Amino acid sequence: EGSVDSAAAARSPAALPSQVESRWGDTSSYCAKKKLQAWCHLPNGDWVLGKILSTAGAEAVLSLPEGEVLNVKIENLLPANPEILDGVDDLMQLSYLNEPSVLYNLQYRYYQNMIYIKAGPVLIAINPFKKVHLYGNDFIEAYRRKAMDSPHVYAITDTAIREMIRDEVNQSIIISGESGAGKTETAKIAMQYLAALGGGSGIEYEILQTNPILEAFGNAKTSRNDNSSRFGKLIEIHFSSTGKICGAMIQTFLLEKSRVVQCAVGERSYHIFYQLCAGATLPLREKLNLRNADEYKYLKQSTCYSVTGVNDSTMFHTVMEAMDVVHISKEDQENVFAMLSAVLWLGNISFTVIDNENHVEVVADEGAHTVAKLIGCDIQDLKLALSTRKMRVGHDNIVQKLTLSQAIDTRDALAKSLYASLFEWLVEQINKSLAVGKRRTGRSISILDIYGFESFDKNSFEQFCINYANERLQQHFNRHLFKLEQEEYIKDGIDWAKVDFEDNQDCLNLFEKKPLGLLSLLDEESTFPNGTDLTFANKLKQHLYSNSCFRGERGKAFSVQHYAGEVVYDTSGFLEKNRDLLHMDSIQLLASCKCPLPQIFASKMLAQSDTSASNSHRTSGADSQKLSVAMKFKGQLFQLMQRLESTTPHFIRCIKPNNSQLPGIYEQELVLQQLRCCGVLEVVRISRSGYPTRMSHQKFARRYGFLLLESVASQDPLSVSVAILKQFNILPEMYQVGYTKLFFRTGQIGTLEDTRNRTL
Ligand code: ADP
Ligand code: MG
Repeated sequence: EGSVDSAAAARSPAALPSQVESRWGDTSSYCAKKKLQAWCHLPNGDWVLGKILSTAGAEAVLSLPEGEVLNVKIENLLPANPEILDGVDDLMQLSYLNEPSVLYNLQYRYYQNMIYIKAGPVLIAINPFKKVHLYGNDFIEAYRRKAMDSPHVYAITDTAIREMIRDEVNQSIIISGESGAGKTETAKIAMQYLAALGGGSGIEYEILQTNPILEAFGNAKTSRNDNSSRFGKLIEIHFSSTGKICGAMIQTFLLEKSRVVQCAVGERSYHIFYQLCAGATLPLREKLNLRNADEYKYLKQSTCYSVTGVNDSTMFHTVMEAMDVVHISKEDQENVFAMLSAVLWLGNISFTVIDNENHVEVVADEGAHTVAKLIGCDIQDLKLALSTRKMRVGHDNIVQKLTLSQAIDTRDALAKSLYASLFEWLVEQINKSLAVGKRRTGRSISILDIYGFESFDKNSFEQFCINYANERLQQHFNRHLFKLEQEEYIKDGIDWAKVDFEDNQDCLNLFEKKPLGLLSLLDEESTFPNGTDLTFANKLKQHLYSNSCFRGERGKAFSVQHYAGEVVYDTSGFLEKNRDLLHMDSIQLLASCKCPLPQIFASKMLAQSDTSASNSHRTSGADSQKLSVAMKFKGQLFQLMQRLESTTPHFIRCIKPNNSQLPGIYEQELVLQQLRCCGVLEVVRISRSGYPTRMSHQKFARRYGFLLLESVASQDPLSVSVAILKQFNILPEMYQVGYTKLFFRTGQIGTLEDTRNRTL
C-alpha cells in the first residue's frame, strides 16, 4: 500500500518553499485573486470561510456561506485550502499553512472522531471526551500488520518499537499538553500497544496494573480534570533480545502534596482516600477506625466527595487487586491503609490554647489516640511532637512551645510527608516487582507523561516548577526537531536556508544561572532564617531586572517570559514550599514508631538530611537539613533530560478542545492557544520547507536500482541514484544530493515506492 500522501503529490510543486508562509501567512498576493476561498478574521476572534468577490485597494468583498456579504480589510484575510485538502492526515499536506487552516483541519477531523493528526513528525491528539472506536485488539492488529496507517498512538508506538529494533537505539515517547488534554490516557494507550506486541512473559500485565495504583494515589479530581495526575511520570519499559517486555522502571516527579491537607472547593484530595472510606471491608474499617469521608476535616473542606461516573468502592477493590499483581503483600497493603487512615485522622487533631502567648496543647481525643495507634507511637510522644520543638541554643537543649499556627503547620507537614513518603515507597515496591531480570538487553522504550505548561490567574511555586520543566522539555523538542535537522543538512553539505525557531535558552538561563538565576536566588533566600517571600521577590527584582525574560511586578510578584507566553508568579508561599521542612521532632517521632512504614520513612528522611547537611550551610539548628524542593526537582530534571538525550524521541501533543470536559465542543481560541504553546505550526513549517525523507546513496541505489530501464555506465551508488531520479522525473526542487544521502521533500518517495511495490 505504501504511504503516499496523494494530496501532497497532487499539489503543484511551486506551492513549496518559496511560498511557505510565516505564522500569519503571506496574504496580499493570494487574496488579491478573486473567486478564491479565504479565511476572514472577525472582530470576536473567530475565523469564517468566505469567497472573495472583488478587491479594491486594501479592501475586499467577501461572500459568506449563508449568502451574507462582507466588506473586509485584506489584512484580515488569509488564504484557505482547496476543499480536497479538508481533513488531511498530516498538516504538512496543507497548501496554505496558517492558523485558521490548521484549526479548521483539526476541527473537521475532530467532528468525525478522527482525533489524531500528524504535524510532520509530531502526533496531535485531540481529547474526544467520549468513547471513540479506535482502540482494542482489532486496531492493534491492524497497526501491527500495517493494514492501517492513519495517525494514531498505536502507529507512533509501532514506529518506536521498530526503530528500537532496527537502530538498536532506545526510544522515548514524550507526551505533553495541558491538564485534562489526555496525556495519561494517551500514555495508557501506548502502553497497551507495547504490552500487546511485546507481551508473553506476563510482566506486561503487571506493568498495566501499575496504572490503577498510581492513579489512586497520585490522581485527584480538580476543576480541570476529574482524574488529574498530580505528579509527573516516566515509565521505562525494557525489552529482551527477542523483543519481549522483560521489566520496567517508574520514576515520578514532584507529587503535589499540599493537596493532602488543603484542597479547593469542588476539587478532591487523592482518590485513594475516598476509595478507602467507601470500599474497606468491615473488619478493616474497625481495625483502622475508618469513618465516612465527610467526617475527616482534610476531605471535608472542599465539600466534594464523589466523581461523576466513578464508584470509589469498586475502584478500591480494583486497586487492591492491582497491588496483589505487583506483589505488594496483604500485610503491606494493610500497613499502607493504616498510613492513609493516620493521615486522615491527623487532620482531625485539634489544639487548645493554654496561655496568653497562644501556645497550645494537643487535645487527646479520638483523633490523637487513633493516629498514635495507627503509626505505633506513644500518645505522649505524638502530643509533644505536635506542640513543642526541641532547639539547641549554644550548648543547651531547650524545649519551645508552639503557637497555634505553628502547631497546625507542624501537624500538616507531618501529614504531607507521611503521604509523600508512602507514595514514594509504593513506587519503590512497584519497581522491585517490575525489576528487569537477568536477560536485560539494555533496550527500552520510555513514556513520559508530564504536566504541560500552566498559566493561571494566580501562579505559585508549583507552576514555577512545572513551567521550568516545560522549558527544559521544549528545548529538547526544539533541539531535536530543529537543530538536529539543520545540522544534518549542513553536515551533508546541502543547500539549506536556515529556518529560525524560537530558542528558549535565554529563559532557561534565567532559571538556571548561578549565582544569579531564579533557582539559585530562591535557594539562597530559603536558607536565610529571616528570608521571606517579600525579601525573595525584592532580591529577584534587584538582580534580574536587566534580564529580558524577567519582569518585576507589584509587591511580591514577578513575571517570566516563557516560550508559551508570559506568566506572573506570586511568591507567596515560595520559601516555605521550597524548604518543605519537617522538623526533627517529627522525624524522630516517626523513627520511634513500632510500625514498619513510619520507621522506613524516618530512616529515609534522616539519610537525606545527612547527605545534604554536609554541603549545606544552613544554621537553623534542629531542623532537618535536606535538599530544597526546587534543587531536588532540578536534579531530577537534569537526570531525566540526560536519559532522554540518549533516546530517539517521538512527540505527542495532547489538545483539550474545551474546558467543560464535554464531547462535541470545539473552542477555536482555546485550541489555537494550545497549538501556539507547543510550537506545532513552527514544526510543520520547518518540516515542510525541509527535506524530511532521506536515504543514503547506497540504500537508494539498492532499493530502486532494479527499476532502471537503461543500464548506467558507472555502477557507483551516486550515479545509479541520479539515474533513478532522472528516469522518474523527480523535479530538481524536490530533492537535494548530499555527501552521503539523498534528501527529499514530503511525498516524493511515494511514486518510487509505488512502482517498486508493483514491480516486486
Ligand atoms: P491529562 O493526563 O492530560 O490531564 P487525562 O489523560 O487524564 O488528561 O484525560 C482526561 C479525561 O479525558 C479522561 O479521564 C477521559 O475521560 C478523557 N479522555 C482523554 N483521552 C481520551 C481518549 N483517547 N478517549 C476517550 N476519552 C479520553
Ligand atoms: Mg494526567
